[in-house]
Amino acid sequence: MIVYGTRAKLLKTEFIAEPCPNCNTHNSMQMNVFQKWAHIFWIPFFPIGKTGVSQCTHCQQVLKLKQMPPIIRLGYDNLKSQTNIPIWTFSGIGVIIVIAIAVSISEQQTAKKVTQMIPSLKKNDILHIKLKDNAYTLAKVNRVNKDSVFFFANNYQTDRITDIDNLKDKGYATKEDTLTIADLKGMNEKEQILDIER
Ligand SMILES: [Zn+2]
Repeated sequence: MIVYGTRAKLLKTEFIAEPCPNCNTHNSMQMNVFQKWAHIFWIPFFPIGKTGVSQCTHCQQVLKLKQMPPIIRLGYDNLKSQTNIPIWTFSGIGVIIVIAIAVSISEQQTAKKVTQMIPSLKKNDILHIKLKDNAYTLAKVNRVNKDSVFFFANNYQTDRITDIDNLKDKGYATKEDTLTIADLKGMNEKEQILDIER
């Protein structure tokens, strides 16, 4: 279950010049500006605007934004214009960017490793192969002879890359297939070799 919703925090409080529309007392109207934000699991994700509440310190009347007469609403707008959106309301977006960068670096490192390993494959290396979109399988190297790589293809495919490890228990073909190292390099350039396990 994902817990999400909105929250608000008081940004600024000030007395405004206008008299209270209820008791007509001067210098009694306190204006409060709140920042609202969307949260997921209580982590602020992005700001969703501001809101305000006024309170008369004399008669205690509380006015929400929609209840404020235009002159009081103007006091809210003025005070609001003096506030900035706190940067922390973007925390979740920051977390997502950091994760995306980490994933990207990790993928680049894997791609580099695959490129380095293809010319020097060894028995029992396991290649993660993308056959097409949503079709992945494994190939286990049996032997390498000059430019030819002899391997056992896995008997099964999976439509999800995250399930590819489950294929290891399902068994490989008993008959060898062959690809040249040039073939494998070509496949790698087309991003069809996603990883090599040793
Ligand atoms: Zn009042």
